[in-house]
Amino acid sequence: MVGRYTDPYEVGRALVGYLQGTAAVPRRARTVPGAVVFDVDGTLLHVRDDGSVLYNDPMVRVYKEAKRHGYRVYVVTARLDNRPWGPKDANNNYKITMAQIQGGGMAVPDHLVLMPHQWLKYPNFSRYKFEARKNLAEARGVPIVLNVGDNWADLGLLEPFVASKPRWMSAPRDAREHVFLQLPDDPAALSVKVPSEQTVEAQHDPREGAAPRRRLLGVSGFKQH
Ligand SMILES: [Mg+2]
Repeated sequence: MVGRYTDPYEVGRALVGYLQGTAAVPRRARTVPGAVVFDVDGTLLHVRDDGSVLYNDPMVRVYKEAKRHGYRVYVVTARLDNRPWGPKDANNNYKITMAQIQGGGMAVPDHLVLMPHQWLKYPNFSRYKFEARKNLAEARGVPIVLNVGDNWADLGLLEPFVASKPRWMSAPRDAREHVFLQLPDDPAALSVKVPSEQTVEAQHDPREGAAPRRRLLGVSGFKQH
């Protein structure tokens, strides 16, 4: 399963097959087959400048199938948790995110984690995402069988949280590539990187100071619902 794939629908089918296969494995004294973690932006959906939302159809299907097979579904986003100080109304990021998830026909996740303010000071979100996965797995006692994101920071620890650039972090050879990884020490058994809406990620751009290019890949599964 570890490898690189370009067709988003093929990736979706492979992941659904993986979840079906994993769910079928008998687990003593466990009724929940496992947990699946999704990132939001660029993974499940994409919010356009005008506020309309495009959904990543193949990944939405993975989400729905995970729910259907009894997996716990956790959503971990770097969207800021503005509830402690902020708006209780429509600008509340928790409410907005929940509404966008449901707007794509996805059921309410078993847990939605938004990023606490203190993580903003770090150059990337890998530690926040890592800690969130670890906490979810430990607190809830359900092993994470799959973690999906569009940024390397969604998948594993990056500098400065590890001493050197991990060997697994290699630039996609093709901008459409989905990369399947099994990362030692990560709370997730399988990690999948979907192509980033930023073809070049800001913190890893070798051209110092180059602005990240944000665009949706033409071949993606992102569709208006
Ligand atoms: Mg993202």
